[in-house]
Amino acid sequence: MPISSRSFTDSASFDCHWQCTECGFQVATWVTETGRDSYRTQPDERPLDRRPAPACEGCGATGTWANLREGGVVEALIVQDESRQSTRGARRSGLVKLVSLAVWVGVGALTFDNIAAWMMLPLMGGTAAVMLHSAYAEFVSGRRARFANSWSHEPVPRGRVRARLEGRVGADERLRAPLSGRVCVGYEIGVRHDIDTDADPWSWTLLEQRSAAGLSIDGVAVSGRPYLRLERKIYAQELSAGALDELRKRGLDPSRPGYSLFETIVEAGELVTVERRRTGIALCTGTH
Ligand SMILES: [Zn+2]
Repeated sequence: MPISSRSFTDSASFDCHWQCTECGFQVATWVTETGRDSYRTQPDERPLDRRPAPACEGCGATGTWANLREGGVVEALIVQDESRQSTRGARRSGLVKLVSLAVWVGVGALTFDNIAAWMMLPLMGGTAAVMLHSAYAEFVSGRRARFANSWSHEPVPRGRVRARLEGRVGADERLRAPLSGRVCVGYEIGVRHDIDTDADPWSWTLLEQRSAAGLSIDGVAVSGRPYLRLERKIYAQELSAGALDELRKRGLDPSRPGYSLFETIVEAGELVTVERRRTGIALCTGTH
């Protein structure tokens, strides 16, 4: 029997993440770390269907949260992901339109002293307006394309390196990697339709990073949450029931074929490098 994305309508019986419908940013209602207290669930309230109140960390939009517990939401997400995969080529068309607009204007300028060109002017103006509008639409959808279909991580830090710290990593808490269940102080999981780990963020179905609270390097506290720059590794083991649930929480139907899964962890005591740049910090394993 063929598996169809249209057939996935089951709602999960457990708490799932929420996803911003604008930018794909995901938040788990159980996240309670410092600075994200606003997501803390009230003890007298079932967290299951409690919509997060704060604005999305990813794009600043409010009231855009969709509950990934709903089968219909997951189904819509799968369709959205697949349509993004099929419009890879279309992303370049924005540039093509701008270039053709420039050529159009150039040709117009050359023939401007010709009387026939004056008669063409309204037509040229109309065409230019249509081209500009579609280029603008491409630009807007391009902003969305900076992120994976579903994502949760710190922004990639930009600017030159201002400080660098190397040493063994520690943390105040321990995390569990979602797929393998390994104990760690940081992890990245990724899901995509091929194994091109260096591909642009938007081509990912899911990209999620988490680092433990109270990170330190050789006992020196790291302020702020780092973006994790780790070597992506394919997760080829058979998925446990727990791992299947973790994928489902993130709006993925684990029974669908064709997904490649990635999981990389940072273990406590591992040798890492932390770099501070103008807009944030990045952590990578090893020394540089
Ligand atoms: Zn958002």
